[in-house]
Amino acid sequence: MKKNLENYLSQLREKGYRITKSRIALLEVLSDEHLTFKQIQMRLAEKGFTNVASIYNNIDFFLQEKVIVVLFINQVRYYELAIDNKMHTADNHIHLVDQANNQIVEINNKRIYDSISRYIENDTEYEVSYIRLTVGVSKKETE
Ligand SMILES: [Zn+2]
Repeated sequence: MKKNLENYLSQLREKGYRITKSRIALLEVLSDEHLTFKQIQMRLAEKGFTNVASIYNNIDFFLQEKVIVVLFINQVRYYELAIDNKMHTADNHIHLVDQANNQIVEINNKRIYDSISRYIENDTEYEVSYIRLTVGVSKKETE
């Protein structure tokens, strides 16, 4: 498992949370991928973890602790790691969805976050708590 994630898990342990084998297996399954619940369930079953209720509980736990995030894309719920993700955190992420194949691509551009925040904070009575964007895209026509 990646180093930051390891560190983060030891912090959770220090807070008194139990980081069980099934919780670790869930994080391993999610590393570098956006998966639906069904896909998570299938991959965990391959590793011998078949208790659906415990998968739900573990997902809830990690969502609460902001270790993983959930995305809604075309009414489908995808889960992925927020910790140790170079492209985003739990609070700020931009996902592009290729309309041709529903492939999810991450981009990280501080200027986009900054300009949205600046607009909200200058032009409205609100301040920004998080920025989570899903942008539908299609490949540029070549030639
Ligand atoms: Zn992502």
